[in-house]
Amino acid sequence: VYYQIIIAMIAVSNIFFKNILPIFMVFINLALSVSVVFLMRYVQNLLNSDVKINLVEIVTQNKDAITSRLMMNVNSLDITANKLSDRLKAEESSGKLKTQDLIEQYAKENNTDDLFTANRDGMALFDGGRKLDISGRHYFRLAIDGIPNISDKLISRINGDEVFVISVPLSYNGEIVGTIQKVITFEEMYKICSLSIFSSQGYMYVINREGYVILHSAHPKCEQKSDNYFRDLYGAGNPKASEQMKRDIRNNRNGFIETTIAGREIFSAYTPIEKIHDWYLITSVPNNAVSPNGNTVISIFYFILFVIVVIFTSSLTYFLWYKNKQRAQLEKIAFVDTVTLGDTYNKFLVDAQGILTQCPHKKFHIIKFDIDNFKYINNFYGFEFGDRILRKINESISQQLNVHELIARIYSDHFVILLENAAEERLNALLSSIENEEITLYFSAGIYSVTDSTESINLMVDKAGTAARSIKGVLNKKFAYYTNKFEQITIHNEQLKRAVKQALKNDEFIPYYQPKVDINSGILVGGEALVRWKTREGKFIFPNEFIPMCEQTGLIVELDMIMYEKVLKFLKSFLEQGLACVPISVNFSRLHLMDSDFLSKIVKKQCEYGVPAHLIEIELTESAIFDNIDTIYAFTRKMHANGFAIAMDDFGSGYSSLNMLKDIPIDVLKIDKGFLSEAADNNRRNIIFSSIADMARKLNIKVVVEGVEHLENVRLMKECGCSIAQGYYFAKPMDEESFRNVFKEGRIC
Ligand code: C2E
Ligand code: CA
Repeated sequence: VYYQIIIAMIAVSNIFFKNILPIFMVFINLALSVSVVFLMRYVQNLLNSDVKINLVEIVTQNKDAITSRLMMNVNSLDITANKLSDRLKAEESSGKLKTQDLIEQYAKENNTDDLFTANRDGMALFDGGRKLDISGRHYFRLAIDGIPNISDKLISRINGDEVFVISVPLSYNGEIVGTIQKVITFEEMYKICSLSIFSSQGYMYVINREGYVILHSAHPKCEQKSDNYFRDLYGAGNPKASEQMKRDIRNNRNGFIETTIAGREIFSAYTPIEKIHDWYLITSVPNNAVSPNGNTVISIFYFILFVIVVIFTSSLTYFLWYKNKQRAQLEKIAFVDTVTLGDTYNKFLVDAQGILTQCPHKKFHIIKFDIDNFKYINNFYGFEFGDRILRKINESISQQLNVHELIARIYSDHFVILLENAAEERLNALLSSIENEEITLYFSAGIYSVTDSTESINLMVDKAGTAARSIKGVLNKKFAYYTNKFEQITIHNEQLKRAVKQALKNDEFIPYYQPKVDINSGILVGGEALVRWKTREGKFIFPNEFIPMCEQTGLIVELDMIMYEKVLKFLKSFLEQGLACVPISVNFSRLHLMDSDFLSKIVKKQCEYGVPAHLIEIELTESAIFDNIDTIYAFTRKMHANGFAIAMDDFGSGYSSLNMLKDIPIDVLKIDKGFLSEAADNNRRNIIFSSIADMARKLNIKVVVEGVEHLENVRLMKECGCSIAQGYYFAKPMDEESFRNVFKEGRIC
């Protein structure tokens, strides 16, 4: 169950950590990034629209400032024109000269290179007779048409400098009689137009309708490729913005554009300088200058996003790595056998299932085997040696396996193999490869040929195990194939199981008692309770027909306790009559040794019936004791502490050694009846027999010889100094009533 849980956890965690979590991680990262980017875009757009509003406002304010400065110049020239007009009026009224003559005279006297008056024909006269004809100039023509104006950038004919000319009409009696011009140097004009924009990060252009740059800020960003603003904008990769601006300017409209120049985002707002014919003011600013804090906030946000993504990704990566490590450890626990370092049975189940599913057309065989004498190898040579043997078995077999073939240890010394080729020679070769020089290993292997790959692998292994069990202890038989015969056995066992369950309910099991006798005096020294199944029809069924199945299915536990209770009841009835009792031994299966409450259950029942513990002997088979050698010491100690005696049943039927007896604190040794059956070498048998009796005596262990059938057996016992016998020679197991009489008699005659 523990392994199944681990495997289920591994499977679930595999799906989660390999598939779901990385996708989830990518999704979260993406979602986080996308939402932050969207949020930032939104913030950026908000900031940009603020910028637009700000910039449009700024360009309007700048325009107003520049316009008022320019208009101041125009107005002051207008005042000059008005004054001249008044003067003309005064002088003309004195009748000396005509208007044009007066203008010429005035010009001659007052004209300078920077401020000069021209007559109606565009002729400006200077002191010394120098003449300047401005009749072709656009500024003159506008002024003479009554429009005060400022010229485009011009090249001075006087000194070749870049200059601007302010030109206003000179009126007299409602008629324009000439113009007055004021020359403004480029530097002066620059001073008029230059304003600090965005802490000097912004800059401005003044262009005319065709895009020709009249002037611009002395700003590093105002590099000009040509003298045309539209052309430059177009050339810098902003054709749409250039077109939009051109369109707006032609229609004398305000506007706003976003451009990218040399990789930097620039916002520009433009507006006509209405008062100044044909001039437009453009205010530009790099977007990061407009709202440096906003941009810093955005940068911080991006940085935080980056940090979050990095932290999130790295912590998840660490988490995944950690979980992978844990999973690997779990897999190791579940899939790597700690003893053989090969595969565990669970891994076998998973892999075998995969192979059978992948190759449905191939013929596979499941082989289950174990080492017949392994418990004794462990006990003799120690667990380390035993583990080494198991490791070697796993190693040498797995080296000979082909693809799609597997080996795993199920538990203890039980192995399972999945083979494609399970011919006898191959099996012989596989098993003989693990022959050990130090000890001889005996195997019993069961083979189940897979016919239905959808069948449960556990069931297949069980079937192979059934075949293996059928040859357990049979000499010279290493393999058994699972056939239909086993199927019949299984069916029979199943029916038997049902019948036993019903019999338990019906209370059909009763104890028979076989006396134990002192062969020298014939006195009854004890008895053994042996179960009999008396069916409702009155038929008797003997233990060998149902005990093995009960052992396999665990029903024996209930059965043993029923027998125990019946024995207690029997003893109690005697005690109540005030009769002397002899100890009765009760057989207990090895399965009880796995139950930690076994002792308390025994004691509880014993107290319930009020039978003294020394009247009860617990019989455990030799193999049950040696198979649980680790726990048996504590168990017997506790049993002794509660006053119960422990008997080792069937001694000599297995691999137990005389030597081991000295270590196990048992009270009674029951020598297996097989000992007394005819042996090839009776002399040898007698020597062993007397050695056992001798050793037991020395260890203060009581010896009971089972299966005493003949007088020779009794003689042998006497020769060897054994005095207690249990066998047909004295009495067969008998029902309660008969045993009651023997009890009362106290001896066997
Ligand atoms: P066991 O514990 O070795 O019991 C002795 C068996 O030998 C009994 O067989 C008995 O009838 C038989 N026997 C006694 N004297 C002789 C003799 O002189 N010659 C021969 N050939 N046999 C003799 P039984 O009653 O059929 O029991 C067989 C086995 O079933 C028992 O062997 C014991 O292992 C098991 N068993 C019987 N009752 C119980 C029980 O209540 N619980 C458990 N767990 N096992 C039981
Ligand atoms: Ca017995």
